[in-house]
Amino acid sequence: MVAAEPSAPSQRRVWTPESWRTMPILQVPDYPDLDALAAMEDKLRRSLPLVFSGECEQLKQQLAKAARGEAFVIQGGDCAESFQEFDKYGGDNVSDTFTLLIQMSIMLMYGLRKPVVKILRSAGQFAKPRSSPFEKKKDQELSLPSYRGDIINGPGFTIEERTPDPERMYTAFVQSTATINLLRTLASGGALDLHRVHDINLKFVRGTPQGQKFSEYANSIDSAISFMESCGLSPDAYKIRQAEFSVSHESLLLPYEQALTRQDPTTGKWYATSGHFLWLGDRTRQPNGAHVEFMRGISNPIGIKCGPTLTSEDLLQLLDILDPDNEPGRITLITRVGAGKVADHLPRLIEAVQKAGRTVVWSCDPCHGNTETSSIGFKTRRFDKILQEVTEFFAVHENMGTYPGGVHLELTGQNVTECVGGMMELTDEDLRNRYETHCDPRLNASQALELALLLSENMDQ
Ligand code: PEP
Ligand code: MN
Repeated sequence: MVAAEPSAPSQRRVWTPESWRTMPILQVPDYPDLDALAAMEDKLRRSLPLVFSGECEQLKQQLAKAARGEAFVIQGGDCAESFQEFDKYGGDNVSDTFTLLIQMSIMLMYGLRKPVVKILRSAGQFAKPRSSPFEKKKDQELSLPSYRGDIINGPGFTIEERTPDPERMYTAFVQSTATINLLRTLASGGALDLHRVHDINLKFVRGTPQGQKFSEYANSIDSAISFMESCGLSPDAYKIRQAEFSVSHESLLLPYEQALTRQDPTTGKWYATSGHFLWLGDRTRQPNGAHVEFMRGISNPIGIKCGPTLTSEDLLQLLDILDPDNEPGRITLITRVGAGKVADHLPRLIEAVQKAGRTVVWSCDPCHGNTETSSIGFKTRRFDKILQEVTEFFAVHENMGTYPGGVHLELTGQNVTECVGGMMELTDEDLRNRYETHCDPRLNASQALELALLLSENMDQ
């Protein structure tokens, strides 16, 4: 740890991709072999970028619309991507989650009558912040380093697995490359063409009430497209035939992020090329910390997780550091305070942002403030609490005359049993059936669609 720097942007030193290294840092893995780490950083520095600056700027423009209330953002995916789950079902894990996000966005577009910006938590969402650096198993004396995500160490409870290994960064990079390649193929190759909207319905939800409701939306979309065509109006072919999407992850493992940060040769601006949208976690958003320092210099659109401990003063300081020009679309504030607590925190944050004359996208993460341990010991989330937090988020914005710009969810296109409740009434006991997450519990496809349906039907923006 080094002494804290003065935080006003004008007092900060010149930013470089490595200026974060002089700042206090939290949540860093303890790599035993620093030469191997340096060699890996060098290898990644020479690797191809995953995304391009132009794509990041386009996303920023879409997010600027969400900040103005002209679009809605849906961001979702795994809590943590894993090496083991990646090819367990061929490419199905990736394509099913993408299909789910598209289905949800179709429902939301239909209900909210606004474009929906789709951002996956994918192709880089590997590193996890932990509450404790060490972990003990029940009834065991052995204490081992905590699992920090597959890009750092392994989930198995052995010293070999838990020792941070830089080689894992390359495996994560290659997996991210394959993931984004599949996503781009699905998006542009016709699989998500709205002319075939009935096929964009995950198999296992087809017979369910949510699947049937989706078919009703699909019928209307079919009719609208046919009507436009019979009028001789060509529905914008590109937008109808291809799905637009972006990928995102928490910017936590800074050696990886730095190695993939590149300068745009035309504008001279720096971009993280590991994903279009990066966010600061609730545990690493200290204004004088290394993670904030790194984020300040990249030009990507970025998110800040806002938990209950975030003060209005810290938030304004963060905005001064991270968005000195008040650039539309640059900042998405992702609040995650827990059901029943939104009215305690959101109004004061909104007031501070309004008083400072700042433009941000307000997004709601109803997952991370609602994690609990179930009666049989599994970490879970209750569907009702998730719905409650989103409902409270919409109500506060309605009261304050601001725009609820989006939602941020942990979900999967698989039929897992990790969150309880929902129309299928999953119980604590059901958690034993298909609990596959490597980190936090995810909404399954049926629960996620139910949430999208409720939002699109009830949230009059
Ligand atoms: C996450 O999004 O997986 C996460 C760790 O969130 P937060 O930083 O809000 O706790
Ligand atoms: Mn999580």
